[in-house]
Amino acid sequence: MTWQEELKENICTIAQLKEYIDLSTDEEQHLREIMEIHPMSITRYYMSLIDKNDPNDPIRKMAVPSEEEFSVIGTYDTSGEQENTKMPGLQHKYQQTALILATNSCAMYCRHCFRKRLVGLPTEETLRRFNDAVNYIGTHKEVNNVLITGGDPFVLPTNVIAQFLDKLSPFSHLEFIRFGSRVPVTFPNRILDDKELLTLLKDNTTKSKRVYVVTQFNHPKEITPESADAVDALIRSDVIVNNQTVLLHGVNDNPETLAELQNKLVGIGVNPYYVFQCRPVKRVKSHFQVPLYKGYEIVEEAKKRLNGHSKRFKYIMSHQTGKIEIVGIMDGYIYFKYHQAKEYDNIGKFFKRKLNNTAGWLDELD
Ligand code: SF4
Repeated sequence: MTWQEELKENICTIAQLKEYIDLSTDEEQHLREIMEIHPMSITRYYMSLIDKNDPNDPIRKMAVPSEEEFSVIGTYDTSGEQENTKMPGLQHKYQQTALILATNSCAMYCRHCFRKRLVGLPTEETLRRFNDAVNYIGTHKEVNNVLITGGDPFVLPTNVIAQFLDKLSPFSHLEFIRFGSRVPVTFPNRILDDKELLTLLKDNTTKSKRVYVVTQFNHPKEITPESADAVDALIRSDVIVNNQTVLLHGVNDNPETLAELQNKLVGIGVNPYYVFQCRPVKRVKSHFQVPLYKGYEIVEEAKKRLNGHSKRFKYIMSHQTGKIEIVGIMDGYIYFKYHQAKEYDNIGKFFKRKLNNTAGWLDELD
């Protein structure tokens, strides 16, 4: 079976889901309603990681819709992606980085996705005219890297990925190219079954211009022989693999789990890059977001269990105004620092807000 054929076997309906987990009649009806708003699609591989006897299984929470998605607290565009869009599928928020939304498809639709507004749904936001995007990047010499993301660009055919690299690699002002992809975690066979993809990535990596894959492992259970093999295959193709974990209630919001995850990632050759505060996304925030004070405590407790190498990540809130590092709590205040900012002058700015115990986002603090 090819990887494309395997993807067609994804679990996308209630009937398929019931082959794996029990649902009450009420649950079934509620899930049906949720899936009309945000589709479900789970690879058979990722489904096999779920303990079907545990309704609180962390893998299940990330993959299977829940009634909690009826909550509409939050918004769909939490980082101001619309206002940074230069043309369909091309965003330019930070001076050095251009971002391409290559597709609205993914191997799996994660229930906590911050682009829930577009994954698996009709959208005007993904790339339409690739050549226009290439021209934009070619004329903006301040851009030194491109992040190709989505959706998940690795669900695109390999020849389409080749076109991205063919056009972008020759630009001398680009120092590296990144792919944002969760397939090493949710569908490792996409990488393991396509030698052409691995060759393509290797051929587009030079000593002075590297290809990076930024992936998203959120729980130690996701580190399996298959996902470790996928990471290994990427590394052997000269790709550097970084990880951004999303801090998620019921999944990894305890220091032991978070520390175990970061340690194991380093073990398989993945570099800890960010731990993201879960964004206040509609149908996500109410059940996945951890309050900031709590998130800070969890991250700091986890760090106590980690060596320096495994705690290179920053705990970050990816806000409309920039990437804000959550650096400390003292005397009733929470302290932040702009790691990256939309306004150039804000980069590095250090500031504080009065702490409360419910805020999950900057805008909820006085
Ligand atoms: S793979 Fe990434 S873009 Fe796709 S649903 Fe999951 S988190 Fe969202």
